[in-house]
This record gives sequence, structure tokens and C-alpha cells, in this order.
Amino acid sequence: MNIILLGPPGAGKGTQAQRLVERHGLKQLSTGDMLRAAVKAGTPVGLQAKAVMEAGQLVSDEIVSALIGDELDAMGAGTGAIFDGYPRTAAQAESLDAILASRGRQLDHVIELEVNEDALVARITGRYTCATCGKGYHDTFEKPKVEGTCDKCGGHEFKRRPDDNEETVRTRMAEYRAKTAPILPIYEARGIVSRVDGMADMDAVTASIEAILA
Ligand SMILES: [Zn+2]
Repeated sequence: MNIILLGPPGAGKGTQAQRLVERHGLKQLSTGDMLRAAVKAGTPVGLQAKAVMEAGQLVSDEIVSALIGDELDAMGAGTGAIFDGYPRTAAQAESLDAILASRGRQLDHVIELEVNEDALVARITGRYTCATCGKGYHDTFEKPKVEGTCDKCGGHEFKRRPDDNEETVRTRMAEYRAKTAPILPIYEARGIVSRVDGMADMDAVTASIEAILA
């Protein structure tokens, strides 16, 4: 089983990917992680990538394809892959098909965790934590029992993360749409795209994903 998992920041993609790894023995292939590991290990592809990056250039699709191929070979035929952050372009989608096909694999599912942008803004911008014990709260969904006092430790100071603001959330959503726009139609034409409500409870999201894979 080989899948692509898509979802904007805040949709819980990391948690769901982790659960897929645990439940199905899949391996998560993040191109950024693979690149760093190959450079560190000094593999032939890693050395090539290092030279390109040191020259201030972007790593080519050929290098990324070689990295993915190496990783799939190391995993063995019995282990499925979750692709994370790849492909981003039609050309990369085509390369991925070729990489998989040459190893007797195919892409089975593209699963997108969908979010409602306005609801996501409300969810993220409303959150804050106790400065003393770190307990999480939310302006709308989880207020302290006594206003201004932490339920857990009685502290009175709270803090918000600077990037939990509307502009950042909307920018990230726009970036996400721009990144996935080139590849979703390709997979939609093949009938392998499924969408799951990423705003639902985490366990409900997992159950929906399991139903798709079943
Ligand atoms: Zn506290």
C-alpha cells in the first residue's frame, strides 16, 4: 500500500500519519528528512545533493527521485509508503509513477484532510496556554473555570504563540492550496482521491481513513 497524505497545517496530518505508521507498518517518506539523512550519511545521492545546496541551488527532481528510489529499495517490497510533501508538481507526479512502477508498486490512495478555513482560523487564533504549567485553553472552546485562573495550577499568566494569528493561518492555507493544486487533478482523474473532514475529532478522522483503506 502506497499513499499520499495531504492536509494544511492544523489539519492533524502529523498525528494521522503517525497512526498509519503504527497500524499498517507504513513508512513515512518526507523528502526533507530523506535529503538531510542522505547528506549526513554521505551516500552518492547525498553527496550530489550537498554540492547542489552548497552552490545555493535547488535540489533537482532527478536527485529527489533517486532519493525516493533508494529509500524504497531499502524498505523492501513488503513495506508501504506514505508520501509527505511530495509530489508538488505534475512532473514530480509523473516521476513518482515511474519510480513506483519500476519497483512493482503503485499509488493506491491520495487522502486529503480537508479543513474549513474560517473554522481553522477560529480554532488556531483562540488557543493559549498557562505560562506556568503549559495547560492549553481556548477563547471559545475551553475556557478556564474561573476567568484568568489556570484550572490546573492556579496560575494567572497565560501566553499565546505569535504565529497563532489569522494572517499566518490564511497565508499557510494559501500556500497549501498552491502546492496541491497542480497534483490533485491528476489523481482525481484516476479516481484515487478521498477527502476526510480534518476538523473532526482525531479518532473520527482515523476511522474515516481506515474506512478508505479497507
Ligand atoms: Zn497552569
